[in-house]
Amino acid sequence: TTVPVITIDGPSGAGKGTLCKALAETLQWHLLDSGAIYRVLALAALHHQVDIGSEEALVPIAAHLDVRFVSVEGELQVILEGEEVTHEIRTQEVSNTASKVAAFPRVREALLRRQRGFKEAPGLIADGRDMGTVVFPEAPVKIFLDASAEERAQRRMLQLQEKGFDVNFERLLSEIKERDDRDRNRAVAPLVPAADALVIDSTGMTIDQVIEKSLDYAKSLL
Ligand code: C5P
Repeated sequence: TTVPVITIDGPSGAGKGTLCKALAETLQWHLLDSGAIYRVLALAALHHQVDIGSEEALVPIAAHLDVRFVSVEGELQVILEGEEVTHEIRTQEVSNTASKVAAFPRVREALLRRQRGFKEAPGLIADGRDMGTVVFPEAPVKIFLDASAEERAQRRMLQLQEKGFDVNFERLLSEIKERDDRDRNRAVAPLVPAADALVIDSTGMTIDQVIEKSLDYAKSLL
């Protein structure tokens, strides 16, 4: 028997995280936040003062990355080398570093098996950039969640403001665009919709509308 996978790919800030969490809760399936793995790798490289421009130095760190995800009261905690780094991996510095280290083909290769290991019964929701194209090409349901850069920056700004951070919209927008350009234009596993993905542009949609549309689509295929 094969374990079904729903892949959710798209640029940063499109709402993938919220959608994936809702799908995993509704279907009672496992969840893979692949971006968190790249973020943890970036943090490990920063901690160990590894040259983040050196693919050779990064590959062994990726291969031996001691990362765990534990569910605590419904929240997914991220543990690096025994230390909780759930919030530390969300800083702007780690975001930018993650997208730089993620551009190296052999780094991605080193993380492939680990990601595929998340595929367990009764099913998996996989959140990332290349879930439908590279990691789970066999997935029966693929969604590419997009939104305009302005809308994504706006949503991120509100999120950060709610947490009490003072943010500059223009700076946020340019950082989002820079990271997306890097993700879209890299040679290996670039951010593109799989040929068989449903593209949802969430600009102007509420998160509930996105969840409903995705669930309807998934149910029509599963
Ligand atoms: O999704 P998130 O913003 O947490 O991802 C952080 C970075 O990790 C992305 O900007 C991207 O460069 C990289 N990434 C990736 N492939 C994935 C998930 C994330 O290259 N499947």
